[in-house]
Amino acid sequence: MRLKDKVAIVTGGGSGIGEASALKLAAEGAKVCVMDIEQKRADEVKRRIEQNGGEAMALEVDVTDPEQVKTAVDKTVREWDRLDIVFSNAGINGTVAPIEDLSPDDWDQTLTTNLKGTFLLTKYAIPHMKNRGGSIIITSSINGNRIFSNIGMSAYSSSKAGQVAFMKMAALELARYKIRVNAVCPGAIETKIEQNTNRTEALEKVQIPVEFPEGDQPLSEGPGKPEQVADLVLFLASDDSSHISGTDIYIDGTESLLRG
Ligand code: NAD
Repeated sequence: MRLKDKVAIVTGGGSGIGEASALKLAAEGAKVCVMDIEQKRADEVKRRIEQNGGEAMALEVDVTDPEQVKTAVDKTVREWDRLDIVFSNAGINGTVAPIEDLSPDDWDQTLTTNLKGTFLLTKYAIPHMKNRGGSIIITSSINGNRIFSNIGMSAYSSSKAGQVAFMKMAALELARYKIRVNAVCPGAIETKIEQNTNRTEALEKVQIPVEFPEGDQPLSEGPGKPEQVADLVLFLASDDSSHISGTDIYIDGTESLLRG
């Protein structure tokens, strides 16, 4: 029970990496507020946490909306009287298209969800974490920093690189309050994210399939599991990582080394 008496928020907590992390944080004793744009998904994760003997709340929150984010963060603290762990994880691939076909609205949707969403959650969490310190974790991606081999992902990659820059600035700014800030950068992970991705036909014409160099092979066959990312999130949330802040950690089974 590494997180006994701690209070955590997980955005995008209703599916994939967020869901696995919410369950893992709760299993280690944290009270977890599961936030998702889809209430049903958040409710289901709350139910599973409670079934395992944990404590949870489920809130419908769109991370792009400042009012909704502030209200949800404040509500969590009103209910449980503290805030220790914030996992800014909600994110979308958005529209994947060549730059000339990407509309300004497509660009805004991806940047607003992934990057502004992280800013808003961090902003409204800080006042509640200043006294006691805590851990903020952000889900970026290998696409945000190390590899840029997916043609059509200019908005996504920009948002994920922006999250890493934001994480470093926040780590610097919040060290005085003993708030640590780090990013996890997953490679391909088996989640629902692809189902909501809008890929244009034009993309198929310009995309070149990426193949690994002959003779090289990744750590494991196929994509990683959300639970593997959740293990890293737990490490960054707990005191086991008490001297780690301002760092982006890759969790991709060598994918970025093979493709980069
Ligand atoms: P997922 O689609 O399974 O889960 C994302 C969750 O976020 C969903 O439940 C969705 O409803 C929620 N969400 C979407 N927009 C939201 C909004 N505006 N407000 C609140 N909630 C919202 O996908 P996932 O793969 O678990 O994605 C989690 C994070 O991991 C994302 O930031 C994604 O960019 C990142 N990531 C995923 C992969 C991968 O291969 N799956 C790789 C690298 C990074």
